[in-house]
Amino acid sequence: MRLALFDDYRLGVVAGERIVDVTGILPAHDADPVSAGWWRALCRDFAGLRPALQAAAAAGPAVALTGVRLRAPALNPSKIIACASNYRAHVAEMHEVQHRTLGHVEDWMMNFDVFLKAPSALSGPGDDIVLPRQVLDAGQEIHHESELVVVIGAGGKDIPPGEAAGHVLGYTAGLDVTVRGPADRSRRKSYDTFAPLGPWITTADETGDPEGLVIDLVRNGEDHRQHSSVRDMITPVPAIVSYASRMMTLVPGDLIFTGAPPGVGPIRPGDVLETRISRIGSMTINVR
Ligand code: MN
Repeated sequence: MRLALFDDYRLGVVAGERIVDVTGILPAHDADPVSAGWWRALCRDFAGLRPALQAAAAAGPAVALTGVRLRAPALNPSKIIACASNYRAHVAEMHEVQHRTLGHVEDWMMNFDVFLKAPSALSGPGDDIVLPRQVLDAGQEIHHESELVVVIGAGGKDIPPGEAAGHVLGYTAGLDVTVRGPADRSRRKSYDTFAPLGPWITTADETGDPEGLVIDLVRNGEDHRQHSSVRDMITPVPAIVSYASRMMTLVPGDLIFTGAPPGVGPIRPGDVLETRISRIGSMTINVR
């Protein structure tokens, strides 16, 4: 099932190029995006709500996706966890990037780990990435990182890898937009609009094993920068969920960016980025 947020934070089920408003079957809903409780409850209780969601989606009416404003399929997550150094070829290219943007290589940054990105950086699949004037004026590079994003269903603490699948609601696509240079990751990756997310959540039963997914990013319609299989991750999704949950309680609706495949590079005002993940969907995002 494909779950989307649209217009005034309504809940929709997407099929093909159409969407059905299923908000009416929710036990609670609030159009105020500050009120994330109903969304967290949906992420936690999805299995129980699923038959009613399916019935409402089948009953319709369905409207064209082009007639609605899709929002990021997340509402005030308690945190965005993100993975560093999770594809070998990306770790290799970061040696060159750090030489250019830092003047040296930080060895500790070449090892897999998790860090935090501000939830306020989220933006929707139809929203622009806004590059901060002060960063552009300073001549710093700002890069795209097109990543598979895990959406947490049932939360938990100290989750064993073998039980991780039971804590994943589904998957979506995200851009981990990043300033290169000498500062903490959380600051360089947390500007507003530095976390475009969408176009919707494809639930885990429909994606199948995430190892089978393929991530792409094309810049300006011709510059095919990223193309990788999720199978190439150093730390696979179940191990990521387990590792993160040993440090932080995972809350329903939390997001985990699973790390950049190789091919990251600078973006500039006027660029158009198409990010795509098989079995999920694609977003085309303008940079300004
Ligand atoms: Mn990243």
